[in-house]
Amino acid sequence: MNSRLKDLLKEYVELECGVQELIGAQCGPVCGLCTVACCCRADICEEALESPFLCLLHKRNDLESDAYGFLTETGCALKIGRPPICYEFFCEELLEAQPDDQHRDLLKILGRLPTHAGQNAHGEAHWVEVTQKEELEHLAFQRLEKQMQECFQALEILRSFFDEGTLLDGADRVLDRITLSELD
Ligand code: SF4
Ligand code: SF4
Repeated sequence: MNSRLKDLLKEYVELECGVQELIGAQCGPVCGLCTVACCCRADICEEALESPFLCLLHKRNDLESDAYGFLTETGCALKIGRPPICYEFFCEELLEAQPDDQHRDLLKILGRLPTHAGQNAHGEAHWVEVTQKEELEHLAFQRLEKQMQECFQALEILRSFFDEGTLLDGADRVLDRITLSELD
């Protein structure tokens, strides 16, 4: 494995853990009491096995079960390497539980960071969509390294907002890079 891919994987683990921790703190109380059918689906879990990039992270070969995928009684069995959609999806109930529009908007940006980090990794394909393991050695590393830095800058701002209630100087400029990238 080339060193740039190795570094990216290491950084992505840090990013995913940071996003997961913050989302867990914001959503855990609501999701923990969820009376609706859980939004996790086995076909989404399977995407984690079909993606060589995600396999390098979670190192799993099989689902926990055919019916529930990686979902267990204690939550998702994947500590890292979940499909980005797992972070990007927020149901209406969850969004309504946020105190105001600003919390809702910033929560959506937080959930988008794993997607932003890996977009256009190989042509227009996200790194999760790269199907051949060998192609991971030839990703658009310069672009990905820049996107990773953008994600960490945004994560710092979002952590400060959700933990301490303060929005750091220059927050809009940094967060706009994440929201505008949806149009790419
Ligand atoms: S995101 Fe919504 S549907 Fe999914 S577990 Fe949380 S509250 Fe339930
Ligand atoms: S969070 Fe885990 S269990 Fe839920 S859909 Fe994603 S991979 Fe599957």
